[in-house]
Amino acid sequence: MAVVGVLALQGDFAEHLAMLRKLEVETREVRLPGDLAGLQGLIIPGGESTTQARLMDTYGLREPLKERVRSGMAVWGTCAGLILLASKLAEDRPEPLGLMDIEVQRNAYGRQVDSFETDLPVPVLSNKKDFHTVFIRAPKILHVGKNVAVLASLPKGGEVVAVQQERMLATAFHPELTGDTRFHHYFLKMMSVQ
Ligand code: GLN
Repeated sequence: MAVVGVLALQGDFAEHLAMLRKLEVETREVRLPGDLAGLQGLIIPGGESTTQARLMDTYGLREPLKERVRSGMAVWGTCAGLILLASKLAEDRPEPLGLMDIEVQRNAYGRQVDSFETDLPVPVLSNKKDFHTVFIRAPKILHVGKNVAVLASLPKGGEVVAVQQERMLATAFHPELTGDTRFHHYFLKMMSVQ
């Protein structure tokens, strides 16, 4: 049976674990390089990207994690996780993992709309219903490479908020904070495509 890991250094990893358990998959909290062994997929949760990057370096996780993704482990970053997956940031901190061909700006929605919620169409999800998205001090995707598919964008300004590149997924919002398991289900489906 597939085992899905959630990076559990900081942030809302417990909410992701709860969603995965609802979908009845085996889960594992990942803190040390050895925890990556045998995982089919890994979720990098929301939280504080600078703190997560620092702890990843402290525990020696950065290189083994990159190596596993390069050799086929699926990965999904939500919010701070999206920042960490980027190849380029508008800021000089943290140093991202450089796995996805996206350029990202942190905390990019300005003060008054620091956090907001909206219903969005996400055509790859399993039925036609809009997905309720929760943005919390969210990053903006400034640029996507040509091998990156756009899965969702905001209707008003057209900002790209969900992307996929091969077996890597990134969302600027937090599906783990809704009761809707369709995004987690999509990740599991993506994960098992060899
Ligand atoms: N603002 C956070 C950062 O820059 C991300 C916020 C979140 O994950 N909800 O890391």
